[in-house]
Amino acid sequence: MRYNKIRKMDISNGPGVRVSLFFQGCHFHCKGCFNSDTWDFNGGKEFNDDTINHILELCNNDVISGLSILGGEPLHPNNITGTLKLCKSFKEKYPDKTIWLWSGYLFEEYIKDKEIINYLDVLVDGRFEIDKYDSTLKYKGSSNQRVIDVKKTLKNHKIIIFND
Ligand code: SF4
Repeated sequence: MRYNKIRKMDISNGPGVRVSLFFQGCHFHCKGCFNSDTWDFNGGKEFNDDTINHILELCNNDVISGLSILGGEPLHPNNITGTLKLCKSFKEKYPDKTIWLWSGYLFEEYIKDKEIINYLDVLVDGRFEIDKYDSTLKYKGSSNQRVIDVKKTLKNHKIIIFND
């Protein structure tokens, strides 16, 4: 599996200052996608244990409130194993910091039964739809996407939207 880039201090993807990882490879090919350079599964750089350790080291800073995982598609079958390993390692080391993840898959169709869901704090789900694009939306690009509070959703057995 491969990744596109790491941002060491990102203030655009989630609350506070965060470390962001952009995976490489997405099969959804949404019209108007802002990250089409992440579509090619053969592009970017190799994602391995060194990458995970590097990300964990970047997060070892009180200024960093959490980890944001974007794409590409972090939950594509090619990428989900590495995403899960990263999330597990992150939560072991930083139980009080949050993980936000953006996926083109929907919570109900694919994600809710995957082990990864237990490690996420917030999931922004759904494909980007250009006719629903709204630049004023927070944490998402089109109005069909949802910013889901994962912990509350699992507890209540229904989708609870993140409220900050
Ligand atoms: S799912 Fe995300 S990364 Fe993939 S094409 Fe759609 S907007 Fe782009």
